[in-house]
Amino acid sequence: MNRVYNFSAGPACLPLEVLMEASSEMCDYRGSGMSVMEMSHRSSLFQDIIDEAEADLGKLLSIPENYKVLFLQGGASQQFAAVPMNLMKNKVADYIVTGQWAKKAAKEAEKYGRVNVVASSADKTFSYIPDCSDLDIDKDSDYVYICENNTIYGTKFKKLPNTKGKDLVADVSSCFLSEPVNVSDYGLMFAGAQKNVGPAGVVIAVIREDLIRDDIPDYVPTMLKYKTQADAGSMYNTPPCYGIYICGKVFKHLLKEGGLSAMKEKNERKAKLLYDYLDESDMFSNPVAKDSRSMMNVTFVTGNEDLDKEFVKAAAGRGLVNLKGHRTVGGMRASIYNAMPYEGVEALISFMKEFEKEHR
Ligand SMILES: *Cc1c(COP(=O)(O)O)cnc(C)c1O
Repeated sequence: MNRVYNFSAGPACLPLEVLMEASSEMCDYRGSGMSVMEMSHRSSLFQDIIDEAEADLGKLLSIPENYKVLFLQGGASQQFAAVPMNLMKNKVADYIVTGQWAKKAAKEAEKYGRVNVVASSADKTFSYIPDCSDLDIDKDSDYVYICENNTIYGTKFKKLPNTKGKDLVADVSSCFLSEPVNVSDYGLMFAGAQKNVGPAGVVIAVIREDLIRDDIPDYVPTMLKYKTQADAGSMYNTPPCYGIYICGKVFKHLLKEGGLSAMKEKNERKAKLLYDYLDESDMFSNPVAKDSRSMMNVTFVTGNEDLDKEFVKAAAGRGLVNLKGHRTVGGMRASIYNAMPYEGVEALISFMKEFEKEHR
């Protein structure tokens, strides 16, 4: 086996221990004589898998009683429509646009109601998080929307916006389970699993129960109605069984590693190592405002596009893969999610130093 350090933004690396365990159960899950992919989602074996996944996530996030966990499909992008469809009661919402994912979400929401962009960092190519302490929140607004960690630009809200009493809806795809959060600060948070918790094809939503409403427009597809999914225990139809099973294993792994405060500590150490190096390097720099830096996605550039390309290629040759920045911004990006070991970041920095020396 020849594992690489995979810095992909998503689908991203998963803990080796989880992959090994899954592989040992691949052909015969706990004496059932079949894999989890082959078993009925109505079986008690699978019911146990999804129930345990939900309970373990509850422990990790200390999810309060009045919140529900939903395992959904369609990627985080599907939620860009599901959110306004389910939550726009007054047909007004306030969006904070800090990158492409939030922009896409705002654009999708415009199909269902009035969208106010109350803050944006588009003026400086999304390289910072705007001050959100006193926004012009509409009095009729149904919710305030953010993308909490901007995967493409490498920025993160260090402080949640002041929503002036409105419910906060957050796309937490790329920071989910990277550190402890206070669930009750959110009306709804959702995350595509493939960034930090499992395989693509699963979206996890944590939603306050009173937002799971029945009085929503008739045109809303049955599958996209949170109430349908909540009433059916995320099994209105066949759920992404195998993906949920892997997510469950990742939750158990995180609990065993000490939960989210241990993750935070580990992630802070990794991010500090990399940012400190970027700050002292003569060749590489991080283009993001210091107070907005993401702990999960670290972007950097040399200032020379050809050199960037050469770096990405040479790094791959050393088993440091997927360091190319998002196609829309260029440069480099190292995604250092939970499953990226400290040694992976050390290896990256050591290669960057070597590259810097050679190309001085
Ligand atoms: C990756 C990503 C998405 C899109 O996820 P899909 O599952 O591909 O739809 C949305 N938001 C954020 C913050 C992301 O990182």
